[in-house]
Amino acid sequence: MSSSISERIDQIRSSIPSSVRLIAVSKTVPAEIIRSAYAAGIRDFGESRIQEAASKQAELKDLSDITWHFIGHLQSNKAKKALEQFQWIHSVDNLQLAQRLDNLASQLGVSPHICLQVKILPDPSKSGWTVPELLADLPAINQYKNLQIQGLMTIPPLGLNEAENLDVFNATAKLAKTIRDQNWSHIKMDHLSMGMSSDYKLAVQAGTTMVRLGTILFGDRP
Ligand SMILES: *Cc1c(COP(=O)(O)O)cnc(C)c1O
Repeated sequence: MSSSISERIDQIRSSIPSSVRLIAVSKTVPAEIIRSAYAAGIRDFGESRIQEAASKQAELKDLSDITWHFIGHLQSNKAKKALEQFQWIHSVDNLQLAQRLDNLASQLGVSPHICLQVKILPDPSKSGWTVPELLADLPAINQYKNLQIQGLMTIPPLGLNEAENLDVFNATAKLAKTIRDQNWSHIKMDHLSMGMSSDYKLAVQAGTTMVRLGTILFGDRP
């Protein structure tokens, strides 16, 4: 890429509303590059592997106002580490994991910000609740008082065209509204985590509050 990271950040910032939270997905990106994104104003970083994140987080300990977002598939045996290392977990994708996180959060005395990952369309390559499954699990999720449920996360299946992609994002926004209108005491639906480098403009159009951008900021991953 010919432009600098701060130029790319400025360009993306100017193309999305200032209310949309820009999460820089720094998986595979070395700590010193994360440091330059920080210097350019980024405070939210997304990682998808606990182990890889841990070593970079140790190197970047001095940047104490970073918010770390876990966005990868979370295995239950890594749940405790995820809670120790991340303030947000976007990829809570089943009830057992949510329950485990709630128990561990209580033990650790933390109250993580959580997004529930949904699959609007069938997608064997991804985990997440289907819409009917999620609606059925809400009464249980509402009991998890140590979790701050913030909203929904989705990743459209690969290979959709723009209109289909936009439909997925709109359906996710609509689902969040449906859940919000049910007035659960411990489930907030103020956030949507959707939009990656190739489709974030569509996600913004559908009203997302957070975009997760990797390639467009840091270049192609190895
Ligand atoms: C890697 C990843 C991203 C960033 O993808 P880009 O296409 O590089 O922007 C966003 N969300 C999740 C869940 C990811 O795994």
